[in-house]
Amino acid sequence: NLLSMGQETKKLSDEYEIIGILGRGGFSVVRRGIRRRRTSDDENENNQVAIKTLKRIGSTTPLGKKTSNTASTMEFPTRKQVSISDALLTNEILVMRKIVEHVSPHPNVVDLYDVCEDQTGVHLVLELCSGGELFDRIVAQERYSEAEAAAVVRQIAQGLRGLHKADIVHRDLKPENCLFLNQRKDSPLKIMDFGLSSVEGYTDPVVGLFGSIDYVSPEALSQDRITTKSDMWSLGVILYILLSGYPPFIAQSNRQKQQMIMAGDFSFYEKTWKNISSSAKQLISSLLAVDPHRRPSAQELLNHPWVNGDSAKEDQMD
Ligand code: ADP
Ligand code: MG
Repeated sequence: NLLSMGQETKKLSDEYEIIGILGRGGFSVVRRGIRRRRTSDDENENNQVAIKTLKRIGSTTPLGKKTSNTASTMEFPTRKQVSISDALLTNEILVMRKIVEHVSPHPNVVDLYDVCEDQTGVHLVLELCSGGELFDRIVAQERYSEAEAAAVVRQIAQGLRGLHKADIVHRDLKPENCLFLNQRKDSPLKIMDFGLSSVEGYTDPVVGLFGSIDYVSPEALSQDRITTKSDMWSLGVILYILLSGYPPFIAQSNRQKQQMIMAGDFSFYEKTWKNISSSAKQLISSLLAVDPHRRPSAQELLNHPWVNGDSAKEDQMD
């Protein structure tokens, strides 16, 4: 296991050569790298990886060098000792470790290969997804057909099923955090960016922070308990966008938007939605139920005829 305790810390530059930039996030930079030592069983022929560097702010003690009576190099600071940036960094590593132990390899979840650490911060060596963000494909395509949208939802739901089985709640599911493995139209889609994720009974949820307002659930806004069903809400927002090309909650101010989300106040505007099937609309309404208990789980969603591709049959029935 790559993230096992007691493993020697590897130096990034010994293992990987950096060859370009892939993206930037709030607390990170993601670069393209090549593995220096080729492994024969590598699925990725050209040995390329994505390296997400989480920069440590305002701390001089390197992670893992905490004075402690254990020899482990992947020892994590306890909650009391860390600043918010360290808390976030630690959180993402803990969640990734849980994913490696309980979810990977999964066709719809980005895999973690390695962790390196140095003065700049911690480097997560990830499976390279070179097909771009779902976000960019939505922007380029504007609207998806029902069959295309169902294929996207199916892949995300499969990823969520794997994560939710391991009690991992993503908490920041949005099209920017779903990456295509390759450039092909039928590329596998992978859920990534576990910076805000939480694991029931394993991590302390990052308090006071939640993901993008457009995708955030009513319970997250009202600071109620966040569960796996909160990700199902975000998936409902994504599905609404895929089929219409615009988000379900549009308002003049964030405050107003929050109120609309908490009231579940959205509609299917006639102009856009008149040609969209009632199954699709019912599915969105069930995912965007203010009461989390009324939302389908990832497994229930995958059983739904509209999602699993049996909707043609269903349409004939009604
Ligand atoms: P943050 O947590 O700071 O938001 P992300 O994990 O979302 O960082 O990564 C930022 C961006 O870097 C992503 O939106 C994506 O464009 C790119 N990126 C991240 N991981 C990968 C990867 N495994 N393969 C390719 N590009 C990636
Ligand atoms: Mg991100």
